[in-house]
Amino acid sequence: MSRHVIKYLPTDTGVSGWEATSERTFPVAALEHDITADWLIIGGGFAGLSAARRLSQSRPGDKIVVLDARELAKGPAGRNSGFMIDVPHNLSSGEYSVADEAATKDEIRQNRLAISFAADVAAEYGLSRETFDPAGKVNAAASERGMGLNDNYRKSLEKIGEEHRVLDAAQMREMTGSHYYRGGLYTPGAVMIQPADYIRGLARGISSKVIIHEHSPVLELSRKGRTWKAKTACGSVSAPKVILGVNGHIQSFGHFRGRLMHVFTYASMTSAFSQNEFGGDVTGVDRWALLPADPMGATVRKITKDGLSRIVVRTRFTYDPSLKVSEKRVAGIAAEQRRSFDARFPGLERLPMEYSWAGALCLSRNHVPAFGEVEEGLFSACCENGLGTVKSTLAGIMAADLATGVAGPELDKFKNQPEPTRLPPEPIAWLGINSVIRFQELRAGREG
Ligand SMILES: Cc1cc2nc3c(=O)[nH]c(=O)nc-3n(C[C@H](O)[C@H](O)[C@H](O)COP(=O)(O)OP(=O)(O)OC[C@H]3O[C@@H](n4cnc5c(N)ncnc54)[C@H](O)[C@@H]3O)c2cc1C
Repeated sequence: MSRHVIKYLPTDTGVSGWEATSERTFPVAALEHDITADWLIIGGGFAGLSAARRLSQSRPGDKIVVLDARELAKGPAGRNSGFMIDVPHNLSSGEYSVADEAATKDEIRQNRLAISFAADVAAEYGLSRETFDPAGKVNAAASERGMGLNDNYRKSLEKIGEEHRVLDAAQMREMTGSHYYRGGLYTPGAVMIQPADYIRGLARGISSKVIIHEHSPVLELSRKGRTWKAKTACGSVSAPKVILGVNGHIQSFGHFRGRLMHVFTYASMTSAFSQNEFGGDVTGVDRWALLPADPMGATVRKITKDGLSRIVVRTRFTYDPSLKVSEKRVAGIAAEQRRSFDARFPGLERLPMEYSWAGALCLSRNHVPAFGEVEEGLFSACCENGLGTVKSTLAGIMAADLATGVAGPELDKFKNQPEPTRLPPEPIAWLGINSVIRFQELRAGREG
């Protein structure tokens, strides 16, 4: 007998522009009865929905149920900047280049496996180019230090034979319209997604084989004999096997407590403008995607659909073990984002930011996932280390394979990673982590 009462439910502050501008084309249904299933997946983000798709492929006759506390794409899965990145992208190390060649190659191979799974999703479910765009990404540098970081990164890519291209200030200006950047490093393997459209497209695609209940937070998960039972306010699902795709909320289910860092990041999206108004000279080509040369800087993207463009700015990280942040914090950071945006696009000072929001990440100190069979029949695909479009997709696939007993070298490598290491007790962790983040953000300077 095992019983977990879930005390903390997800809350998402601010409205995500991705979600607000994405069209939902299938109905929302909450769980209203007691039902049984072969598989229960809790969490309908990248991890949960990828696990569901993988199970629907490997166990086509089985009954698979997904429960999410919120509406799909309203949580972090529909709040991110949409960079599906193949090359190393370690937020906690202060720069992207990685010393160990073999580990880097493994990481790239795993990231590409997840991206190719997502590419199959896009092809099979007919996702548009605006939703899934294999355009690559640029690490943009706005300072001497940023240029140095890009150069280190370039050398590490060169060492492992990864394709890349160096861009000078004029090429950056031609692409973005902005005079802000001194240079860039392009890598072709990243896919740029409209995250809310991707999540909804994936959910709609699997919905003929998978039952999805939204607005159905799991309030209690217990096991009697070999059966797990998840209770929601109006119903329950009983199943022999459960996959948790709840990211940092795994600790509410009694696992990995004291080992996960709950970090929030923030974004703002402009209102729509036409290329006639602010195209070409002002904002460059239709679409571009910039990561900061310093991981603590600003991620900036321009998207265009049906002739209308928007620019999205993501900055700042805060460690919030309470798993929630206030509207006031979002508003304060939105004002900082306005300044970052104006510095890059002085001609757009009157273009309003239509949406500002926050979203949760889950990191571990040793940059590993919270993965594996955590109790009999209960599997975790959590802790995405800030790159969940890719890492959570992979964790979901791997959790489904582990749970169905599909063996393979990829799963062996994935499940043989160490556990997330312990954090210092609170408030030491809060003070320490927030101080390191703030120091790194200030050091990022013009990159932010
Ligand atoms: C502003 C921002 C920018 C980002 N940019 C990028 C980027 O460019 N690239 C990238 O790869 N990542 C990015 N991320 C991170 C990315 O969004 C996350 O890594 C990703 O969403 C994690 O996916 P997941 O499926 O593991 O978890 P989530 O997307 O958090 O999904 C977990 C789901 O579990 C559900 N849940 C939790 N508790 C319960 C419960 N008790 N009962 C039922 N359901 C529950 C939640 O409602 C949620 O839908 C960004 C995040 C933010 C906020």
